[in-house]
Amino acid sequence: MAEYRTIDYRCPYCGHTFPVNMYDVIDVDSEPDLKDRCRSGDLFHVSCPHCRKEYMIQYPLLYLDRSRRFGILLSEREAAPFVHGVGPALVKEGYRLRRCTSLQSFTEKITIFEDDADDVMVELAKYDTFIEYTDNRKGTPEDISSIEYQRTENDVMKINVRADDKSMSFLIPVSMMKEEMEQEKELYKVHDEDFPVIDSAWVISLFTPEDGKA
Ligand SMILES: [Zn+2]
Repeated sequence: MAEYRTIDYRCPYCGHTFPVNMYDVIDVDSEPDLKDRCRSGDLFHVSCPHCRKEYMIQYPLLYLDRSRRFGILLSEREAAPFVHGVGPALVKEGYRLRRCTSLQSFTEKITIFEDDADDVMVELAKYDTFIEYTDNRKGTPEDISSIEYQRTENDVMKINVRADDKSMSFLIPVSMMKEEMEQEKELYKVHDEDFPVIDSAWVISLFTPEDGKA
């Protein structure tokens, strides 16, 4: 059984307090139900018994997939106490470790790793897609609401650019991305031990060194 804490949560709408179960670590192989609820976001969905408002609450949680060997920490801020010191041991066992700051990036990261795709490559591909979309005047940066990884199939990555009425899908060969990454191997190295955040801000930081690393 996955361990959870029950905390008294104060509703931000009515101030009423009600119990909410919060998990620290979810071992998804032994908890398929929790895995599904994590992926769908249902685990973070609460409804206040007093005012009946429904909303999402985000709290630090480590999603651990032992068969595929990856761990994703959902945490807005730096590492949560329960992951202190666990990084190096997991990396030794071949784990990829990441931190995600939002629920959206968290579920996307799970999809990327379940596809056995390289998330550094995915973020680069998204960046390239952004450049292509705006350079070819399909739309302006302001038109774009999000750029999302869809899937990898037959070594082709599908990236969606979401924009009001100008949404587009881009198909990007993995081999092409591999070539691009070969040229800057050092630049794209990540240190899994530290649960790094690999997202669009991280990619942008690579190309603007004066801002330092995200
Ligand atoms: Zn309420």
